[in-house]
Amino acid sequence: MKTAEIAELLNEPACAHNKNEKSGCARTKPGATAGGCSFDGAQIALLPIADVAHIVHGPIACAGASWDNRGARSSGPTLYRTGMTTDLTEQDVIMGRGEKRLFHAIKQAIDDYSPKAVFLYSTCVPALIGDDLEAVARAASERWGVPVVPVDCAGFYGTKNLGNRIAGEAMFKYVIGTREPEPVPAAAQRPGIRVHDVNLIGEYNIAGEFWYLAPLFDELGLRILCTLSGDARFHEVQTMHRAEASMVVCAKALLNVARKLEGEFGVPFFEGSFYGITDTSQAFRDFARLLADPALSARTEAMIAREEARIRAALEPWRARLAGRRVLLYTGGVKSWSVVSALQDLGMTVVATGTNKSTEEDKARIREIMGDETRMITDGSPKAAICRSLTPMGWPSFSRAARMLP
Ligand code: SF4
Repeated sequence: MKTAEIAELLNEPACAHNKNEKSGCARTKPGATAGGCSFDGAQIALLPIADVAHIVHGPIACAGASWDNRGARSSGPTLYRTGMTTDLTEQDVIMGRGEKRLFHAIKQAIDDYSPKAVFLYSTCVPALIGDDLEAVARAASERWGVPVVPVDCAGFYGTKNLGNRIAGEAMFKYVIGTREPEPVPAAAQRPGIRVHDVNLIGEYNIAGEFWYLAPLFDELGLRILCTLSGDARFHEVQTMHRAEASMVVCAKALLNVARKLEGEFGVPFFEGSFYGITDTSQAFRDFARLLADPALSARTEAMIAREEARIRAALEPWRARLAGRRVLLYTGGVKSWSVVSALQDLGMTVVATGTNKSTEEDKARIREIMGDETRMITDGSPKAAICRSLTPMGWPSFSRAARMLP
């Protein structure tokens, strides 16, 4: 990947975090891999695409980085959970056999598993010795008639966050827009209900959590063309350009995909969360707002009223035990506001929250829902956040706070 391409991906205009003087991505130095390398980030972003063979081109140790660590679930194929690597050794490097090994690995994956597509992830070693992933992908695709997608994400390019964007860029460059969606089946049509096609970007279906929400989309007449990438299939990613609206579920990962879908295909997007009652309801309202369909808005409000009443009744026993409790939220900071909101739904008072990786927009939302007295913990290390900052203010140490929990 060229330096200019890396610089462009680091400077994501749709991400307010870029403007941060100290920690914005645009100020990140290549090689700053704390918290995961670029390969790690790219693999995390794309691995849940379930019917794809994901081949890690590099030493076998890289293949273990973050593999399957999130527990993204699939409702069908499980090919994504088969770890594949070219297992490069010193001999391969010395003899210049990297591309050959990769070509054979693609053949083996296609012969043994008949995948819908093959994704190739570059790591540091093949990038340093100059293996041409794109040329190998093109040759393999022509030879076996299966889409082969290069993801040029060598670890030394930068952070995990950059890797997320590289993954999104690869989807935009090689996959999205290469297929048209199927018409809505007659059996799924209901009188008086216009079906809208939507995308979810940065939704990973961790432990199958999205399956609780999917029926609500069906009820409203929102057909999900693709969730990038939880429980996704390759052909779904190909059709994302035909959606009428996208929701960015994770604040940072794949924001570039949402922005480019809007810029090149006119697909508007919003950022939201399915964590807690308030945010989930707001997400459905935002879809109705972007789609500008009055009938959909009416259905959405009716569904929200029914579901909120049901959930609040189910939570009442918990609310009785938790309301009024004070909470110190010790998180990395990504979307802390959605957790704050969920705890407030239970009547709890959040006195401080981690904002180490929060974007400026995340922080603005935290201030909005917690008020001006909000205490933000910007340094995520236990020593700084708990021992030095909090104890002198009279709050309990972290270990004591844990014991005090009900
Ligand atoms: S890609 Fe590079 S930084 Fe990332 S795990 Fe492999 S060797 Fe380490």
